[in-house]
Amino acid sequence: MSGLAAARELRRVGLAVTVMEQCSDVGGQWLYDPRTDADDPLGATAPVKVHSSMYASVRLVSPRECMGFSDFQFVPRPGRDARRFPGHREVYHYLNDFVAAFGLADAVKLNTKVVRVATAPPPQACGGGGYKWLVRTRHVEPDGEEGVDAAEEVFDAVVVANGHYSQPRLPSIKGMDTWRRRHLHSHSYRVPEPFRDEVVVVLCGVAKEVHLTANSVEEATSPPAMATKMLANHAGDIQLRPPVDRLCGGGDDDGTVVFADGSSVVADSVIYCTGYTYSFPFLDTGGVVTVDGNRVGPLYEHTFPPAMAPSLSFVGVPTRVFAPWFFEAQARWIALVLSGRKALPPEEEMMRAVHEDYRAREAAGVPVRHTHAIWQEICEFVYRNSDLPRMEGWKMELFMIGFVNTMEDRETFRDRDDNTENVREGLRRWRRESVAQYEAALAAAASGGDAAAARVVQKPPWLPTPSQVSNSELSSTR
Ligand SMILES: Cc1cc2nc3c(=O)[nH]c(=O)nc-3n(C[C@H](O)[C@H](O)[C@H](O)COP(=O)(O)OP(=O)(O)OC[C@H]3O[C@@H](n4cnc5c(N)ncnc54)[C@H](O)[C@@H]3O)c2cc1C
Repeated sequence: MSGLAAARELRRVGLAVTVMEQCSDVGGQWLYDPRTDADDPLGATAPVKVHSSMYASVRLVSPRECMGFSDFQFVPRPGRDARRFPGHREVYHYLNDFVAAFGLADAVKLNTKVVRVATAPPPQACGGGGYKWLVRTRHVEPDGEEGVDAAEEVFDAVVVANGHYSQPRLPSIKGMDTWRRRHLHSHSYRVPEPFRDEVVVVLCGVAKEVHLTANSVEEATSPPAMATKMLANHAGDIQLRPPVDRLCGGGDDDGTVVFADGSSVVADSVIYCTGYTYSFPFLDTGGVVTVDGNRVGPLYEHTFPPAMAPSLSFVGVPTRVFAPWFFEAQARWIALVLSGRKALPPEEEMMRAVHEDYRAREAAGVPVRHTHAIWQEICEFVYRNSDLPRMEGWKMELFMIGFVNTMEDRETFRDRDDNTENVREGLRRWRRESVAQYEAALAAAASGGDAAAARVVQKPPWLPTPSQVSNSELSSTR
């Protein structure tokens, strides 16, 4: 999603783009993969082999009307999943249509895994603080088998857009390393069948018993509203427990999960729904960009590392954003900067802004691991850094209705229809206009008149010599 957003925007401004995609299709997380990291179900060894963490029954948590590109809305299509909160396949189809409508297929090198991105030796300043980048890739067979290192290319800029819902963040629990029964991270969960009739502890079904663990002993005795209804609906089958204190593997206690209040259960499986961590195993910036406590930094406005801007940038690091709208704005900003239409502040000023941001978050009590959770700032970011049209009020309202409903009932919120008249009116207009726009874009592409910008390739203006950007879904410009 981020990589495609970047590719379109970079092309729009006339830059040559190569998107390196390790999978045999586009879609990223939305390319459902029934395979799992079976030999490492915890995902303890980075990087994981399987990218997508989608499980079969997933449905969106955000309404589709809030999830489109600004000029290519995520409209229901005949014969597809028309629900407001559709399943993963619908997003996959949508992204494929986006590729077709904007003629991006020829920019994407599939089955191409980026194994190293580093400044091209010797580190070359290209004026304006730019570097050239050496990108090493390896061919990946559709079955995931990796070939030997295949190619090295030099690019003028790299946009990192590799997602951050693949590499598990594992808890540290006594006895995890000696637990002999099944345990896995949610990254490796696909379908419920293997757990049927089991006793499962889920750290955060169709199993016989599910023991959800709360974040604290207090939360276990007085659960938040969003959990209350689910617990009532599944009385007996799902139980809310305090956090896990230890896992017992072997001996008389084998299979016992002990909770923080001293209670215990004998479990067949433990599933860690403990989130994901940022991971850039291919990126060698010589320590300029690091991941520390799940903070990627330093990144000016979550996008540019000041010391390596503008030739290195990131799309998709922020969380709790409207995707792909927010990614589109980031990509548009990067494209404007790389094409010389917009300037970044001097490096020192960007560094100062990053540290001010860290200080403000700390003062507001935001944990470091939530540095990139920027829900309240997204509109400001988009309007400040890009020329995207404003998010309409009715969409915000629709999103908030869904959000409030989630709090009330986690299981049924998607199927409620309690829109206000403002939302209904917005929806009518949206369907009318956006469906026509979608079809026109696809029709124009099919007839050769690709809706994307003209393909006149320009030289990034900060470069002294003719050259190229890589988007290593990852995307790059030459
Ligand atoms: C279970 C689940 C449910 C979700 N539900 C929602 C939802 O309801 N709404 C929502 O907005 N978001 C949801 N998300 C988040 C979702 O992942 C993002 O919205 C979106 O997919 C992010 O897009 P992205 O392009 O940044 O990352 P990704 O979709 O992860 O794409 C990254 C791409 O980079 C490629 N890549 C990675 N490393 C390399 C490499 N070394 N070389 C070459 N290619 C590489 C990958 O193969 C992939 O194609 C969910 C995520 C999960 C896991």
